[in-house]
Amino acid sequence: MQPIWKHTENYTGGRGGTAVDRIVIHYIVGTLAAADATFANSSSGVSAHYGIGEGALHQYVSEMNTAWHAGDFPMNQRSIGIEHSADPDRAPSSSTYDISIDLCTQICRDYDLDPQTQIIPHHWVVATACPGTVDLQRIRDAVAARL
Ligand SMILES: [Zn+2]
Repeated sequence: MQPIWKHTENYTGGRGGTAVDRIVIHYIVGTLAAADATFANSSSGVSAHYGIGEGALHQYVSEMNTAWHAGDFPMNQRSIGIEHSADPDRAPSSSTYDISIDLCTQICRDYDLDPQTQIIPHHWVVATACPGTVDLQRIRDAVAARL
C-alpha cells in the first residue's frame, strides 16, 4: 500500500549519520485522524514516520529524516516509528495489523533487520504504556514468516 503523505513540521533533517536498525511500535490511544491532528500541530513536538488505522497508511516524515516518537533522541535517529490506531480498550483491527505487517516487512527488507529483535515496543525505550493493546509478537511472527 502506498502511503498518503500528511503534514508535520515535527522532525529533524537527516539522522546525524546514524543507520536505521530499529522499528519502534506505538499505539495512538485514538484513531489515525487523532495522530494526523497531533502531528500537524507544531507545538505538540511529536511525530512518527508512519501511522496506520481505519484501512489507511499515512506517512509524516521521510525515512531519511528523524521523527520525534520514542522520547529519546538517539533512538529517534536510529529508528523508524510506526503508530497504530488503538486504545486501551480497543485492540488494532485486522486491517491495521495487515498494513503494519506489509510495511514492517518492507522496512526489514530495506534495512536488513531481524523482526524478532529489531522490531521493538516503545516501552523498551522509555517508561510508557505504549504500545498498549498492540500485539507486537503477532507482527514480528508474520514479518518473519514473509522474509
Ligand atoms: Zn509510543
